[in-house]
Amino acid sequence: MGRLDGKVAMVTGAAMGLGEETCRVFAKEGAKVMITTGKSVQAAQMVVDEIRKDGGDAAFIQLDVRKEEEWHRALEQTIRTFGKINILVNNAGIAIGKNVEEATLDSWSLEMDVMATGVFLGTKYAIKYMKENGENCSIINISSMEAIAAESIWFSYCAAKGAVRTLTKSAALHCGGKRYKIRVNTVYPGYIHTPMNEKAAKDLGLSLEEYYGDALTRHPIGYIGKPKDIAYANLFLASDESLFITGADLCVDGGYTAQ
Ligand code: NDP
Repeated sequence: MGRLDGKVAMVTGAAMGLGEETCRVFAKEGAKVMITTGKSVQAAQMVVDEIRKDGGDAAFIQLDVRKEEEWHRALEQTIRTFGKINILVNNAGIAIGKNVEEATLDSWSLEMDVMATGVFLGTKYAIKYMKENGENCSIINISSMEAIAAESIWFSYCAAKGAVRTLTKSAALHCGGKRYKIRVNTVYPGYIHTPMNEKAAKDLGLSLEEYYGDALTRHPIGYIGKPKDIAYANLFLASDESLFITGADLCVDGGYTAQ
C-alpha cells in the first residue's frame, strides 16, 4: 500500500533536480504523476519512461509557469489524462546571482515572474480544479531558506521566495475559511545538489567545490542536501499524514535557518 495511492499529482519544473526526484518518490508511493517542464522535453520524457519502467504511472506536458493560459491547458490535460488533481508542487525555479546593485529590471522581473507569479497562478488554478473533486488535496510551494536568511548575491531570488512564503499562508487561510479540503504549505530547502546549483556555480565562475565550500559552512548538519531530502518532505505534505497541517513552514535545510 503506497502513501499516495489513488492520488494524482502535478509537479512543475520536474524534468530534473528536486522536481524529478519528487515525481519518482510520488510514483513509487502510488500517485499518478503529471510532470511539467519548461524547455527540457527530452529529459521529461526520460523521467516518464523510467517511472513507467518501474511500474508507475506518469505523463509529461510543457508548461511555462509564467503563462496563465498554459496553466489552464496543463491542468485540463492532467484531468483528461488521470481524471482529477489532488497534489500540486509548485517547484519550477531559476537562480540568478546578482546583488541589489547588479540586479536589473529584467533580471528582477524574470525571477519574480517564474517564482512569484508562477506560484500564484499555480495555486490559484489548482484550487479551482481541486475544490471540485471533494477529496483531500495538497498544494506544496517550494520556497528557499533564502526567504528566511537572505544572502546578498541572490537579491531578486530572495524577494521572489519571500513572496511565496506569505502568498502560501494567505491561500491556506482562504481554503480553510471556505472549508475546502485543500492544504497549502511551504517547503524551504537548504542548498541541495541539483543542476540549478551547477549552473549557478558556473555563472559565478566558481568550481563546485568553491561554491559548495562556502555554502557548507552555513549548514550545521555538515553536508549539502540531496534531492531525496526534499522529495520525502514533499511526500509527507502530499499524503494524508499531514491533514492538519496548512499554512505551515517546513524547513529542510540541515539547520541553515536555525542559527
Ligand atoms: P533545477 O534547475 O534543477 O530545476 C528547476 C526546473 O525549473 C528546471 O527543470 C526548469 O525546467 C524549470 N523552470 C525554470 N523556469 C521555468 C518556467 N518559466 N516554466 C517552467 N519551468 C521552469 O532546480 P532545483 O531542482 O535545484 O530547484 C527546484 C526548486 O527548488 C526551485 O524553485 C528552487 O528555487 C528551489 N530551491 C532549490 C535549492 C537548491 O539548492 N537546489 C535551494 C532552495 C530552493 P526547464 O529546464 O524545462 O525549463
